[in-house]
Amino acid sequence: MDEHEHPTQQGPPAEQAREARERAGSAARQEAAQLTARNIHGIALTWVDNAGITRVKTIPTTRLPATARSGVGMSPVFDVYLSDDSQVTSKHIGGPDGDLRLVPDLDRLTPLAAQPGWAWAPVDRYEQDGTPYSACQRHFARRMTALAAGRGLELRMGFETEWSATTRPPADAPTGTDVRYAGPGPAYGMARVVELSDYLGDILRSLAAQDIEVLQLHPEYEPGQLEVSTAPADPVTAADHTVLVRETIRAVSARHGLTASFAPVVRAGAVGNGAHLHLSLWQDGENLCRGDGPQGMTPTGESFLAGILRELPALLALGAPLAASYLRLEPSRWAGAFHCWGVENREAALRYIPGPPDDAESANAELKCFDPAANPYLITGAVIAAGLAGIDARLTLPPPVAGDPVRTGTTPRLPASLPEAIERFSRSELLRAALGDPLFEAVLAVRRGEVALADGREPQALADALHDRY
Ligand code: GLU
Ligand code: MG
Repeated sequence: MDEHEHPTQQGPPAEQAREARERAGSAARQEAAQLTARNIHGIALTWVDNAGITRVKTIPTTRLPATARSGVGMSPVFDVYLSDDSQVTSKHIGGPDGDLRLVPDLDRLTPLAAQPGWAWAPVDRYEQDGTPYSACQRHFARRMTALAAGRGLELRMGFETEWSATTRPPADAPTGTDVRYAGPGPAYGMARVVELSDYLGDILRSLAAQDIEVLQLHPEYEPGQLEVSTAPADPVTAADHTVLVRETIRAVSARHGLTASFAPVVRAGAVGNGAHLHLSLWQDGENLCRGDGPQGMTPTGESFLAGILRELPALLALGAPLAASYLRLEPSRWAGAFHCWGVENREAALRYIPGPPDDAESANAELKCFDPAANPYLITGAVIAAGLAGIDARLTLPPPVAGDPVRTGTTPRLPASLPEAIERFSRSELLRAALGDPLFEAVLAVRRGEVALADGREPQALADALHDRY
């Protein structure tokens, strides 16, 4: 018996699982042969922890069949890792005991264009006996997607990816020498595209080679800040794509002598990096985000968005997970700091985008308050759970907010600090039930750990500590 194969209890489910693993093993033999023929000798298997850091085990391509069959080992303790790699413990997870199996999703196996010789696949995490691990974030996203599908509802989602590209000062530069921003030209300025022409071209080429459909690529507001957005997909795929997009940008950046940072804030007091989530809800091929209801959507679409809006303060603990996330989530930065929705309002946390009159398919909602330190699987799953609860309660949206809430002064802010968001999250029975106790408690422990980690640190010191972590 392979050292990684474990006897499971007898009976049809265990047998079925074993058969499924055998099938995966033989499919992987073909995949491995094809990769080897293309000179790809290593495969990066990634998952994202609760602090939003993409962790990895790599295997030689020759190990793919065995890994598809029985996974590769990894401790569950990473579910309570903090952004600085220190650990906390939670009610169900923590400490040195136990092991999980990381099983690659072969449907997503992708040769990496900017890392010659390498391929990538996201993993699902399983217990030793082959049952899904209760705190696996990717299983969670899939479970919530299935819950929606059980009601005949389909989600289309896509994350925007913002990042800051910097160059390092030379190694012998005096200490305290600042990082330099790549492409210091004006916000949204063509000058930046000219200056970074080869870099941005390589990003587009690499993403296309990996079958990621890019919608647009542009310079953002801050010096060195850039954004790419990708086509909508089902929730798990959308989360997978954002992981792959970021790691591709990181790899292309390295080849150009640049560092890409996906931290929520690079310069304290300035505009930060968001990870806005676009979503639309569909039923029988109809986009429920457009319709005859009073808000221009169908009643079901409206209730779904109202459910998300209601839960947003608690969701923020998932979507803005670091103390530094709240340095970004400030008014007048298009980060969505206000607890409201608005039609094409870039200061609203929930921006409704009706799309052109003759194109109902493009209508969607954008959740602007989330940043790239969020685990994208937690976000997609939790947003679905909140939306479905809104449908159950037949919620309606309040009137939309127009204009800058800073001027009117009547719109409430979302939580303005991590402790405030944690407080809302800890009281959310909806999110506890959706995530399940082990995952919910692990997230809570990690968030509290991040608060302690940030204690007493100046804003810029907080930002600096994250620059190379995300
Ligand atoms: N960088 C802004 C943020 O922190 C978003 C700018 C935009 O609307 O694209 O979310
Ligand atoms: Mg943007």
